[in-house]
Amino acid sequence: MCYVFVRVVDGEVGGMRVNVGELLADRHAVRVLAYHERLELPAEEVTLAAPVEGLLTVHGTGQSVVLTGQVRAVVGLVCGTCLAPYELPLEVPVAEEFCPPRPQAAEPGREAIDPDDFLVPLEPGDVLDVTEVVRQNVMLALPIAPRCSPHCRGLCPRCGADRNRVACGCEERDVDPRLAPLERWASGESERAR
Ligand SMILES: [Zn+2]
Ligand SMILES: [Zn+2]
Repeated sequence: MCYVFVRVVDGEVGGMRVNVGELLADRHAVRVLAYHERLELPAEEVTLAAPVEGLLTVHGTGQSVVLTGQVRAVVGLVCGTCLAPYELPLEVPVAEEFCPPRPQAAEPGREAIDPDDFLVPLEPGDVLDVTEVVRQNVMLALPIAPRCSPHCRGLCPRCGADRNRVACGCEERDVDPRLAPLERWASGESERAR
């Protein structure tokens, strides 16, 4: 037997927090969440102009709950090469397992790794903070070195012009640092020849 709840959260203040208590012990229980929320990210120079949305599913395993699905986000970034702002659409997978909150086990010297150590504890009251899970997954999906395009030509190191927009005409001659001594020697030779 399988029962499905659909819950739509739109613009709810304080984020999307779902009580999953009744799902924990029931391995046939499934809840489908239509996620749609304006998120804020704790990162400089990263913005989310549109709400993040997608379908997420929570199901019980008998002792834990598993949250899976995918959300879509359009993030505003700043290109690290030409410094121009640009937008990057992201499809962000979500897959995380949660266990009931455990009392802080005061077991000094406990060395053995409990398989539950790899599960994320729920908040007291068996509350799953879906907003926070989505936020963390979107953060993880952000590029480490944002670049507006694989062909971005960046700023001219001499005059600072955006080379995607203008041809500044500066001499573009990069000397391989390993060949620089040879270059100096060659120009010295031509000086002497004069
Ligand atoms: Zn760029
Ligand atoms: Zn230039």
